[in-house]
Amino acid sequence: MSYLYKEMQNEDYAILNSKLKSRDSIDILRFAHETYGKNLVYACSFGAEAMVMLDLLSKVQKDAQILFLDTDFHFKETYDLIEKVKQRYPHMKIKLAKSSLTPEEQENQFGAKLWLTNPDQCCQIRKLDVLEREMAPFDAWLSGLRREQSPTRANTEFINQDNRFKKVKICPLIHWTEEEIWMYIELHRLPYNPLHDQHYPSIGCTYCTKPVMPGQDNRSGRWQGNQKTECGLHAPTKGEK
Ligand code: SF4
Repeated sequence: MSYLYKEMQNEDYAILNSKLKSRDSIDILRFAHETYGKNLVYACSFGAEAMVMLDLLSKVQKDAQILFLDTDFHFKETYDLIEKVKQRYPHMKIKLAKSSLTPEEQENQFGAKLWLTNPDQCCQIRKLDVLEREMAPFDAWLSGLRREQSPTRANTEFINQDNRFKKVKICPLIHWTEEEIWMYIELHRLPYNPLHDQHYPSIGCTYCTKPVMPGQDNRSGRWQGNQKTECGLHAPTKGEK
């Protein structure tokens, strides 16, 4: 059967996930690679999960296509980490994709500190529009979402119908715990963002990421003081499974 977004119905996702449910992450990556080939891209945040995903992916597809949404507002540590990853996996095609608006143009058009006055619009311009543009040639994308990360991610399946981007979204790490992620990173001596050791469990843009104290929710450091909890890349849409 076809596994293209435009040809799959809701029930096809359920059947496929039921077939794959006892498989492990590397099997899901193999399925993704064999099914979508060059039309598969990993939208990578370079967080802790990403280190695991990149390492697993390197065993399946050395020249995988990786996309990082470079908002222009990331921490220096994140950019440094990307350089380390490029050295460790030299065959991977890592693209840093930017908004068509520079930060200065954004300020001129929408006012200063849009991340404070209208963070949804800021994420739309610097992340969602960029992802939509960059993903246009692909049929499916990989994401490192884990179910335990937040209530909005608790129902994520291996294979998901992504109605926002009209793609198939594949999440091989849904069952991993935070402890397992860190055990894998240590066991394989993977590079990671040093900010994780400074109370930043979830790292995004400098303006919207604060440290989290022990006992607090891992994502509570994102968009502090705002109801926003997701940038919109992974927000479930109507009818999505
Ligand atoms: S996370 Fe903050 S700074 Fe980054 S794009 Fe979204 S609102 Fe803007």
